[in-house]
Amino acid sequence: MALDIARIRKDFPILEQQVYNKPLIYFDSAASSQKVLPVLKKLEQLHLEYYGNIHRGAHYLADRATADFEAVRDDVKEFINAAEREEIIFTKGTTEGINLVAFSFGEVFIEAGDEIILSEMEHHANIVPWQMMAKRKGAVIKVLPFDDGGRLRTEMLDELISRRTKLIAVAHVSNTLGTINPVKAIIEMAHLHGIRVLVDGAQAIKHQAVDVQDMDADFYVFSAHKMYGPNGVGVLYGKKALLDEIPPYQGGGEMISEVRFEGTTYNLTPYKFEAGTPNINGVIAFGEAIRYLQELGMNEIAIYESDLLAYCTKKMMEITGMVIYGTQKEKSGVITFNVAGVHPYDLGVMLDKMGVAARSGRLCADPVMDHYQVPATIRISFAVYNTFEEIDRFIEALIKVIALFK
Ligand code: PMP
Repeated sequence: MALDIARIRKDFPILEQQVYNKPLIYFDSAASSQKVLPVLKKLEQLHLEYYGNIHRGAHYLADRATADFEAVRDDVKEFINAAEREEIIFTKGTTEGINLVAFSFGEVFIEAGDEIILSEMEHHANIVPWQMMAKRKGAVIKVLPFDDGGRLRTEMLDELISRRTKLIAVAHVSNTLGTINPVKAIIEMAHLHGIRVLVDGAQAIKHQAVDVQDMDADFYVFSAHKMYGPNGVGVLYGKKALLDEIPPYQGGGEMISEVRFEGTTYNLTPYKFEAGTPNINGVIAFGEAIRYLQELGMNEIAIYESDLLAYCTKKMMEITGMVIYGTQKEKSGVITFNVAGVHPYDLGVMLDKMGVAARSGRLCADPVMDHYQVPATIRISFAVYNTFEEIDRFIEALIKVIALFK
């Protein structure tokens, strides 16, 4: 059934405002999406009614918070179709999830001279932790390039993979090019060589159904703040057997079994990866975001957002001097572009004054900027609350701004 966007927008009251006396057009959901009302209500209820530290039992508030916190582990398991609830680790976001894997996987599986393959279109969060680990362990990073249309050149994997390759880290959806990468095929090929794969799902998770078992990912990471949920909450999915094999990332309370000055034993998966007090209310409220997405239906969301993308792309291509980076058919709701003769920062500032929230800059993806040899770009990105009418107003604003600089 088609989505009722007018009703959906009522669940995001922040969108109703005017900025600079213009109705807000929020086209920056790839950076962070707005939070849906049930999440905000849950956060308020938690703070007012049943806040307590989890897993420490002994009183009513703590027990209630613990039960709800652990219930969200089941919600996430179901949402991404993980095999077991123990495969769901709560983090503070995608970045922390990648750092955790880079450290803990690196500790056990990476030796000097081993190789890791990253794609050229990765967000800095899926580059720098691997570089840090490579430096620590003496490993080598190899890069899988993309072509000018934004397609990952997966045919080159054959020559990039060697006997020393231990892991491939790749975005499910690129935050700059919007490309939906063929992660299932990449994983299949990697597994033929005994190579593990981490998929960065930060941009994919709110746009399409994700099934970690079908994809056969070894690790899959994402952030709640990009899926209408709270800040400071993320998920690391990992295959149970693999998680059992790798050591903890941080030490502290919760992640231990017994602590003596002579030595400490660790808790089981997933708790051994959740040191300290987590974002309790954030995780519990995240459950509401998951339910909201499930009620709308991930397939309906994917169809609607790809209609928005197609409509906007067509209109933008009619503008003289328009350059869009990333033109794959398999593309998610992100349009990164430049207009000949106009600096993207100027464009961003002027669009803002017209009520359009876009993102300008290097989009946390220096290698993508270098690929196209541009100092910066401007990016708009869609979510389920955006409308065709907003796109019309955006195009009007864009044409006006370009005229000012010509
Ligand atoms: N990977 C990708 C593809 C992203 O788009 C982002 C967020 N822009 C991240 C990783 C990092 O996510 P977070 O800042 O929530 O940790």
